[in-house]
Amino acid sequence: MNSWKRTALAASALLLAAISASGQAAPLPTGDVNKLYEKLLKQIDQIPIYDNHSHATFPDDLDMDAMAAPPDETSVLRLRDDNPEFVAAAKALFGYPYTDFQPEHAKWLIDKKKTAEAAGGTAYFNSILDKLNVEICLANRVALAPYLDPKRFHWVFFVDSFLFPFDNHAQANRDGDMAVYVPLQEKVLQRYKAQEKIDGLPVDLAGYETFVRQTLADNQKKGGVAIKFEAAYFRPLYFSDPPREKAGEIYAKYHAGGVPGEQEYRLFQDYVFRVLIDQAGKLGLPVHFHSAVGIGDYFSLRNGNPLNLENVVRDPRYSKTKFVLIHGGYPYTLDMIWMTAAKNVYTDSSLMGYYVYPSELKRILKQWISLFPERMMFASDAFPFNDAVGAEETYWLAVRSARTAVAAALAELVAEGAFNEAKALELAQLYLHDNAARLYGDMK
Ligand SMILES: [Zn+2]
Repeated sequence: MNSWKRTALAASALLLAAISASGQAAPLPTGDVNKLYEKLLKQIDQIPIYDNHSHATFPDDLDMDAMAAPPDETSVLRLRDDNPEFVAAAKALFGYPYTDFQPEHAKWLIDKKKTAEAAGGTAYFNSILDKLNVEICLANRVALAPYLDPKRFHWVFFVDSFLFPFDNHAQANRDGDMAVYVPLQEKVLQRYKAQEKIDGLPVDLAGYETFVRQTLADNQKKGGVAIKFEAAYFRPLYFSDPPREKAGEIYAKYHAGGVPGEQEYRLFQDYVFRVLIDQAGKLGLPVHFHSAVGIGDYFSLRNGNPLNLENVVRDPRYSKTKFVLIHGGYPYTLDMIWMTAAKNVYTDSSLMGYYVYPSELKRILKQWISLFPERMMFASDAFPFNDAVGAEETYWLAVRSARTAVAAALAELVAEGAFNEAKALELAQLYLHDNAARLYGDMK
């Protein structure tokens, strides 16, 4: 090769480098994406996580949730008992010596966890967070547990029970799921009444509103950092805006007994819902919603669609209230990220981290990152499936899935020329930690 040719080649190589550094992004990746992925993943593994949603708990702790799974639920493929990833999780966390969960093998794991539970103290769950490089984790629970260190596990408390103050027989009789859920809501309301030293129900709506507002304020003083609605399991996430007088009439009619009609109960719930989000806004408590598919045999996808909440999150009266639509609105993940175009709306990738495999999570995260990267948060939805596969293993699965999926999404975007590696790591930092830390005031 003569020197002229060499110079021309060098010049065109330079030109190519310049295009990929500052030119238009391409629809296909160039270069070694796998190598880029490995490089990014190594650095992404070093980022401490802020987990927006979990149910950190031992499996026999009844405070883990305000509801329970109905018995005949159909499970997605990845969450079935024979998923080998659960064995990988138990191996990674505890050195599990077996390759399956045959009862005599699972006993090894169950014994280990029972021993940790009996020992008491906060060291065990802190050690799980340490192994996964999780700094802080929101714990969605009826009450915070003595075995969770409040410095690392921040409490998110349930508020749906305030929507069920009347005779709920008609509600519970609707279907098999409601027969399981409604009595649990009644139990939580009973608990809040005991906490606020209230016998029966206040005589008028004003008294009931005071009870609702005071419980939120008191739970915040006890360490609560957000309120949570599981309402999508009970009714549509669309909430109308009824006048107070109407709600007052219904309250007067049913607070001492009698079964409200479906319409009347719904209208009353819509009113109390607005009291709850108004108070949450005043106290600076973000409002979490289950907004996605749900467990159970009668769950309505349409009811759980996050678009139902548009009239609420875009209402100027609640512009100071922060809304966190958890589970990414799955499967409506594209609708969901566009909801976060509103300044007070956030979402997270909980549930998706173990419902779908990392390749699919990568696709969703890539879409989100490309639109509103300041509004998306990591969350595990760690939850005990049985005595062997616990919150610990689902934690591991969700964390590994998210770290690998976000690394892959970013590797592709870098290889397509969307931005450089430094920017990719900044975006990973937002998703895994900073967006949530800022939202809950834990940004150092
Ligand atoms: Zn959850």
